[in-house]
Amino acid sequence: MRLYDTLSRQIQDLKPLHPPIVSVYTCGPTVYDYMHIGNWFTFIRYDLLIRTLKKSGYTPNWVLNITDVGHLTSDADEGEDKLAKQATKEGKTAWDIANFYSEYFLSGLKRLNISHPNHIPKATEHISDQIDFILKLESKGFTYKLTDGIYFETKKFLSYADFARLDIDEQQSAQRTEVNKNKHSPSDFALWKFSPTDRKRDMEWDSPWGKGFPGWHIECSSMCLNYLGETIDIHSGGIDHIPVHHTNEIAQSESLTNKPLANIWVHTNHILINDSKISKSLGNTITLEDIETRGYSADTLRLLCLESHYRTQSKFSWESLEAAQTRLLRYRNFAVRRYQATGSASLEAPDALKQMQNDLNTPQALASFESWLEQAETIDINTESITASINLLDELLGLRLMQVSDIDDRYKKLIQMREVARKEKNWTKADELRNALETANITVLDQQNGPLWQYLS
Ligand SMILES: [Zn+2]
Repeated sequence: MRLYDTLSRQIQDLKPLHPPIVSVYTCGPTVYDYMHIGNWFTFIRYDLLIRTLKKSGYTPNWVLNITDVGHLTSDADEGEDKLAKQATKEGKTAWDIANFYSEYFLSGLKRLNISHPNHIPKATEHISDQIDFILKLESKGFTYKLTDGIYFETKKFLSYADFARLDIDEQQSAQRTEVNKNKHSPSDFALWKFSPTDRKRDMEWDSPWGKGFPGWHIECSSMCLNYLGETIDIHSGGIDHIPVHHTNEIAQSESLTNKPLANIWVHTNHILINDSKISKSLGNTITLEDIETRGYSADTLRLLCLESHYRTQSKFSWESLEAAQTRLLRYRNFAVRRYQATGSASLEAPDALKQMQNDLNTPQALASFESWLEQAETIDINTESITASINLLDELLGLRLMQVSDIDDRYKKLIQMREVARKEKNWTKADELRNALETANITVLDQQNGPLWQYLS
């Protein structure tokens, strides 16, 4: 299995540290609002990584965390806590916000058929681990204290700029909020923030430095260490995480352990709508609910995601979603042939796994399935070949084709009655029966060896 590694900027062979186990950490959502389809694309893509590992004979140990405190409005530890800000807006506590949007996220994983991670730790459930981590960094001399928190001294981690090939000045000038002028250098970041003295925060904890809350980056370093160990096989997240969040995770973790945090770093690219990134400030966010309200399924969204490679910028439009729906219908109608096939021809399954093992090449995996499909549709294929291929595709790509149901017996009876009417050349009756079937979302194709039913939508 080969993956593009952001650290080396090269495609690398996966060499698990403890085969067959492959440890994977994915930076999960900050649970302060509804996820948009760009967020979901990221998690679908890591689900595809997990599925490919499993089909390749590995046993993934997947940690997908939930950030429910400490992610400030700027990724670089400036501004307000995103959850606290949303709590004020909704007139709730930060805890209510965290619970509500965590549940929303977990239900979305199910709706989108994303594999259940082995662990879904919440940052707020691991505060003492994070404090321990910071204490160790403190004892090694990597921290300093300012009036508003404990900071990591990035100059002491000599390779700080390497991962993102950062131009530190450029990184800082790109940030939206004011940089804390008291920091020793602009790239330094908060490990622990102190609670304000004039008011009580919903989320705050005692620490050796006083009441406060952890920084976003330390949460991931700490949970990754606790669940997966000092060096893991694959660390992953959105491309946005490279210059700040992952750079800071590496600085903290490697300063503590003197070992590489991860052997392979995988990053997913953005999804664009009308050539713009999805962002709340642009008002162009689309949620899973928006998709479903317009009559498209979560599986259709998944197929749209599969159509682009994870390292390219994918484009969303309602037209492309419509095209994905048509494409999915073809797959689904092929899957239901197994309820009807009487053929004897067998056909070897498509080589979609090989394509996925090559840096998760989803467009090629779909292409290999479709060229297989073209062949399969023209031969008198047997049930076993259909089932084997559809199963493979479901396990690998998660399109739930095996779940497309058979039609009710009464419709099968109508199809038989229509055959009789046709033989008797009773065209009026045959048409009436066709209409009745179409009302039930079923169409019949008259083929050489008998009728073949399909779903209309
Ligand atoms: Zn993270």
